[in-house]
Amino acid sequence: MKKIIVSNQLIKQINAKKTLLIANDFKMNENQLIDLANQTVELTNQNGKYVANAYFSNQNKGIGWVYSQNTADFSVSLLIEKFNKAKQLREKLFSDELTTAFCLFNESGDGLGGLKIDVYNQYAVFSFYNEFIYQHREMIVSAFQEVFPDIIGGYVKHRFKNAKNISAHLFGEQHEDCLVIKENGIIYASYLNDGLMTGIFLDQREVRGQIADGISMGKKVLNLFSYTAAFSVAAAMGGAIETTSVDLAKRSIEKSREHFFLNQLSLDNNHFVVMDTFEYYKYAKRKGLKFDLIIIDPPSFARNKRKVFSVQKNYGELIEGAMEILNPKGMIIASTNAENLNLSAFKKILETALAGKKYNFKQVFRLPNDFPYSAYHKEMNYLKVFIIEVNS
Ligand code: SAH
Repeated sequence: MKKIIVSNQLIKQINAKKTLLIANDFKMNENQLIDLANQTVELTNQNGKYVANAYFSNQNKGIGWVYSQNTADFSVSLLIEKFNKAKQLREKLFSDELTTAFCLFNESGDGLGGLKIDVYNQYAVFSFYNEFIYQHREMIVSAFQEVFPDIIGGYVKHRFKNAKNISAHLFGEQHEDCLVIKENGIIYASYLNDGLMTGIFLDQREVRGQIADGISMGKKVLNLFSYTAAFSVAAAMGGAIETTSVDLAKRSIEKSREHFFLNQLSLDNNHFVVMDTFEYYKYAKRKGLKFDLIIIDPPSFARNKRKVFSVQKNYGELIEGAMEILNPKGMIIASTNAENLNLSAFKKILETALAGKKYNFKQVFRLPNDFPYSAYHKEMNYLKVFIIEVNS
């Protein structure tokens, strides 16, 4: 294995649990870095003393990851150790019969950047974020099967540049068309081999739990950027008298309906609208529609015919629009997964948009604990969800 001398500053950071390596961490030119692509290296101090093991591989963020600080080689036994640790951390979830889908391995938070694994009943979905991980897929799968023999099949999402196919079957059995999972006793539908998304965002489990557990009772709920309407299903199960799910994508409707059927909920008071959110604001105003709870969960960046949406620039407008169709004593759930916006910056955007109103930040949700992140990289706790009561 190649040895690379690193600066004292980087050593300090690695000891503080920095795991993501960026080009600026090294005094190497681009060609030297290209030479190291998809290789493991040993990082040492000026005197040749061992610091850590890392691998180099280009990713959407950074150029590599530290994966060990105790001279471990990248091997099946190293992976088995990491998977066992991840399993232990999630013991409660594995034995919870009411929740059958969750994150099983969260990249560097579980000790290996570039690899994420989610479990959906007896299936697993692997996300490979770079080519190094892809090249070691056989090793990864064999270590995984050793630790998780109950998982009968796996799929993979290739989330790196120039990957041949985005989604593929990886090993074992394949599930039927739609795989039904449970979360806090509520049924959700997932599709493990249909593009990058699976029908449900597992990081919002606690938010869905909260929506189903009291705050929707008797309310008229509007769910914006609804995708497969998972939040609306949670609201309806939690006693909402009416839900409206709005998404720009037509394909969302069929999957949203299915979600309601699966939970034996009638569609009489649960509506689906294919429309741009900002257009819907205008429509609702025109029709005099009002809601008691408005859920806002946009993608961190989106482009449609007329507009480029970015959280920094446009979240305020989303809140302002919601204020015009919110009943007195209403509630807003404001969510973002933008990694480049920290909690206080997001809160400030919300406060600015709410200026002049009487409001109360009731609750905040971050990533649930099956999504651990390394202490040095607070930005990796990307999920930020505020529940806000607006009194007038
Ligand atoms: N809240 C969802 C996830 C949202 S994913 C959940 O918890 O499951 C983002 C969704 O926003 C996608 O389904 C996409 O089609 C939709 N979208 C993107 N731009 C939009 C716009 N301008 N108006 C409405 N929906 C939009």
